Amino acid sequence: MTPRDQLDPEALTALRRDLEDNIEGDVRFERFFRGMHSTDASVYQIIPLGVVAPRSRDDVVRVVELCSKHGASITARGGGTSQAGQAIGPGLQLDFSRHMNRLLDIDIEGRTVRVEPGMVLDELNARLKPHGLQLPLDLSTSSRATIGGMIANNSAGTRSIVYGKTIDYVEELEVVLADATSVMMQVLDEDARHEKSKRDDLEGTCYRLVQKLATKHQDEIRRRYPKIQRRVGGYNLDEFTPSDKPLNLCRIMVGSEGTLGLTVAAKLRLVPLPEHRIVCCVQFTDVLEAMAATPVILQHEPSAIELVDRFILDSTQGRIEFEPLRAFIQGDPGAVLLVEFFDNDPARIDHLAADLEQRGLGHYVYRAIEAKDQARIWALRKAALGLTMSQMGDAKSISFVEDAAVAPEHLHDYIARFQQILARHEIPSGFYAHASVGLLHVRPVVDMKTADGIEKFSLIAHEVADLVLEYGGALSGEHGDGLVRAPFQEKMFGPILYEAFCQLKNGFDPAGLLNPGKIVHAPPLTANLRFGTDYQTNEPKTAFDFSDFGSMAQAAEQCSGVGACRKTLTGAMCPSYMATRDESASTRGRASALRQALSGQFGPEGLDDDELLPILDLCLECKACKRECPTGVDMARLKSEFLHQRHQRHGTTLSAKLLARIDRSAAWGQRLAPLSNWIADSSAARFFNEQFLGLDRRRPLPTFARRSFLNEWSKTTTAGDVALFADTFSNYFEPDHLAAAARLAQRLGAQVQLAPRVCCGRPLISKGLLDEAAQKAEATTRALAPLAERGTPILFCEPS
Ligand SMILES: Cc1cc2nc3c(=O)[nH]c(=O)nc-3n(C[C@H](O)[C@H](O)[C@H](O)COP(=O)(O)OP(=O)(O)OC[C@H]3O[C@@H](n4cnc5c(N)ncnc54)[C@H](O)[C@@H]3O)c2cc1C
Ligand code: SF4
Repeated sequence: MTPRDQLDPEALTALRRDLEDNIEGDVRFERFFRGMHSTDASVYQIIPLGVVAPRSRDDVVRVVELCSKHGASITARGGGTSQAGQAIGPGLQLDFSRHMNRLLDIDIEGRTVRVEPGMVLDELNARLKPHGLQLPLDLSTSSRATIGGMIANNSAGTRSIVYGKTIDYVEELEVVLADATSVMMQVLDEDARHEKSKRDDLEGTCYRLVQKLATKHQDEIRRRYPKIQRRVGGYNLDEFTPSDKPLNLCRIMVGSEGTLGLTVAAKLRLVPLPEHRIVCCVQFTDVLEAMAATPVILQHEPSAIELVDRFILDSTQGRIEFEPLRAFIQGDPGAVLLVEFFDNDPARIDHLAADLEQRGLGHYVYRAIEAKDQARIWALRKAALGLTMSQMGDAKSISFVEDAAVAPEHLHDYIARFQQILARHEIPSGFYAHASVGLLHVRPVVDMKTADGIEKFSLIAHEVADLVLEYGGALSGEHGDGLVRAPFQEKMFGPILYEAFCQLKNGFDPAGLLNPGKIVHAPPLTANLRFGTDYQTNEPKTAFDFSDFGSMAQAAEQCSGVGACRKTLTGAMCPSYMATRDESASTRGRASALRQALSGQFGPEGLDDDELLPILDLCLECKACKRECPTGVDMARLKSEFLHQRHQRHGTTLSAKLLARIDRSAAWGQRLAPLSNWIADSSAARFFNEQFLGLDRRRPLPTFARRSFLNEWSKTTTAGDVALFADTFSNYFEPDHLAAAARLAQRLGAQVQLAPRVCCGRPLISKGLLDEAAQKAEATTRALAPLAERGTPILFCEPS
């Protein structure tokens, strides 16, 4: 059956039932869960029919069989961090990241590893590090990008000038084809190649087709494929033109964006970790001077050259978290190039500095020889994208011309003309990233809610495409085609190769089951936009002030989908995702649900929709996202407001009332400890908590301390150098923390006094009782005001 994706309710129910009966993994068809899988980090949105997280290859085989039977297409998904829209589709979303993320086998001697496609790059490299090995594709999204996504996008990173792209590391792939057969792709000798090409099945067709098309069009391929290091768009037919290279069908799968088959396991080549690195930062007057210097720097054989421009550097100024990272910047440069060498000889930097000086390029060189110093420089570079995307309001820095690459020697002229295009449309933009390979990320700031913004988006996309092709460049150097570049495929490769791509797709996937509309047969550039002129929101009157974002809806829209909240190895964001690996428990998932609710995409209930409650419930309101999310999403505030709105309409629940006023019950609980602890731990109390407060009976409650901090420290002076504020939780449950803080302050020579005992109102905020929290805040302010007026610092230990 040809996929039609708009299944009627009966057909949809039948698909869902079949999946539930036959798949071991998760089958989820809830509206908001589908909504969370309708976006990636692109400007697009397509709501899928449902989401399946397979557990095994057999699950994937059954999904392909069932989708084929019911006429639903399949779009694979890893971390959903694609910037071009290739991770979204109208049929079923197949999420490999949740369960199929295991390391299957490491061969240390042979320097290879076998993994499932949902394994995250950083998690893989953390496992390889003790063996001195790495998969050296250092993408900015390494903390959440999956191997399956990297293979499908042919991803690359900062050091690609040395390490190349994903295609250079894929040795074998196990792939489920569109007819639900599972095949192994690997290097074939001549006999094996003949054998495969003779087969009378889909696998045989694939082998024949790739060789036939590449041979037939070898001249056109030579003419039309850009002669640069970074091109990932289109299909890799150039890897199959007649040559001495042995045939490996993996190379057509790499970069095919899930349109030709579904990877269920991959064997990858590894390389040793570099022994030494030294880094320098060269400052320039402007981006064009930096671009003129790039070919010169390349002659010194660096392992990376990364650009950061003033647009981005300016946004770090005056921000406490970036000040330590900026220490290597002197004055106010228009652009900097961060240059790395795999070496331990600082003379490499001296030679480079002398060469640049002689040519009158650059005005200051900072040397970072120590690893700690280098980490600071790379941290600023990594923060660059977040900084370009952290604008508040409707105009955002978006991906659409962000990934073009030209030969480095053309960078200066190409960027000069790119700047002219942007200036003509009066659109600001930052420039940053991989100067070493002629690939600068340029994300113009456009308001995609207005007709004018959408028109500029389209005009700039067309003008930049022409410009890139004039310089013999590639429209995509690492992010892929997706929905935003596939419309330019024919322009990029010409009609003959475009037709060959269509034939290739048709041969591998005759029914059009796999990720439709990507690479070929793309919908128009401005179809399926996440926003668009019809996008409207129903703004509630809020208790919190959201004017820093514009409004509550704009606070939710601040999430652009980069998925930094899906990291699991570093930082605190997002604890609920780290524990569950469920998109609905991530900051991105919650922001997406709130955005779709506030814009009424799933009905007029908006924030009142019952499906929203469990999604927001698991947010701990730890505020880690406010600090760690590159675009500054503040989910704690959004959740609290959401609960407040809900209480307004439905009344405050018993659970919310009791937990919000925990200061009262905790005082009694602590006085009665240990009896209160024994009661709280009894089965009857656990039953009550589960039934009436919504607390799972398996969850042990925090235990009341035998003596509260305030009891213990009541004789402390009333006139100190610092005043310690005893918050409710620490005072009654964990007084040792406060005592430790007080002792620390004393050891540092301060005299500690206790701040007046008032509740800070944090539990009220947590539970969305915002009117009462505001009153409490006033009372607290009054109580603390005399200390503040005397200039006495007030210490708080409560992290949020
Ligand atoms: C902030 C930011 C920075 C980025 N920096 C870089 C960078 O430095 N270098 C770079 O190359 N890219 C970069 N990207 C793009 C993106 O992160 C990479 O392309 C990444 O490899 C995508 O991985 P993913 O797991 O998120 O894949 P997804 O986005 O989920 O999917 C990518 C593609 O893979 C397909 N796919 C996923 N799993 C499978 C499977 N098992 N079988 C078949 N197809 C599959 C999907 O259908 C889709 O077409 C960046 C993106 C963002 C948002
Ligand atoms: S505040 Fe909520 S969404 Fe944000 S990091 Fe903490 S738990 Fe995650």
